[in-house]
Amino acid sequence: EVVLRCEGLSKTYSEGTLYTPVFDGLELDVRRGETVAVLGASGAGKSTLLHLLGGLDTPSAGEVYVTGTMMSALSDAARGALRNRALGFVYQFHHLLPEFTALENVMLPVLLRTGRDSPSVAEASRHARELLESVGLGHRLQHKPGELSGGERQRAAVARALVNRPACVLGDEPTGNLDEKTAATVFDLMLSLNREQGTSLVLVTHDRRLARRLDRVLELHEGKLRQLAPHEV
Ligand code: ADP
Ligand code: ADP
Repeated sequence: EVVLRCEGLSKTYSEGTLYTPVFDGLELDVRRGETVAVLGASGAGKSTLLHLLGGLDTPSAGEVYVTGTMMSALSDAARGALRNRALGFVYQFHHLLPEFTALENVMLPVLLRTGRDSPSVAEASRHARELLESVGLGHRLQHKPGELSGGERQRAAVARALVNRPACVLGDEPTGNLDEKTAATVFDLMLSLNREQGTSLVLVTHDRRLARRLDRVLELHEGKLRQLAPHEV
């Protein structure tokens, strides 16, 4: 089962008369449970690719399919709902809401769900608590982001990304802001959640040592996506 697919994906930014072609005709399939690293120099287009995969930006040409649904065929509202339901996001900076506790931050994506299958607040709270425990933050449920360490905030962000049981987590340098040891811990955590829950991972990283631990390593270079052989990583 393919959870994420790109077909002929192209992006050119245009601002007035300035055109910045980023990539052209990318093809990518990510299967359920698969882990994929995306390497590439600064400016190669890694963030752009993740934004397109997550339906946060629209391609200049080509299509993105999330769990089989063509993103461009959806209304903005339906695209937002699919994104919240099927994908989780982890960024370099945690983007937790400062006024809310860790537990509330992790519950929020569940509470934003609409429709007949959306869980109750009690169920959201139970699952958020369970996830925070599994990332080692069972003793930090009522702490606000400002009261957590860098590593703890990033682990809370991972819990938040997983709370709707997404098919795939997209990470843009998810450990880029952490020291080496904490980065390895957060990376291990994402890999263990991948193994236990079958969540696919697509992680943009600069860190080749971390990338090597994923099933596939792709490099974005001069507008093309190429799979690296193990000895190239
Ligand atoms: P990476 O994540 O690999 O560093 P980006 O996807 O951020 O690369 O950027 C790819 C290219 O697109 C760069 O040349 C960048 O300057 C340009 N770019 C990124 N975002 C925009 C934007 N919103 N408008 C115009 N150009 C952009
Ligand atoms: P880490 O190695 O995970 O980044 P730190 O050394 O930054 O950990 O923090 C150690 C402990 O101190 C953590 O358990 C964290 O909850 C607590 N802590 C860090 N910063 C604050 C703060 N501003 N307010 C309250 N507790 C904090």
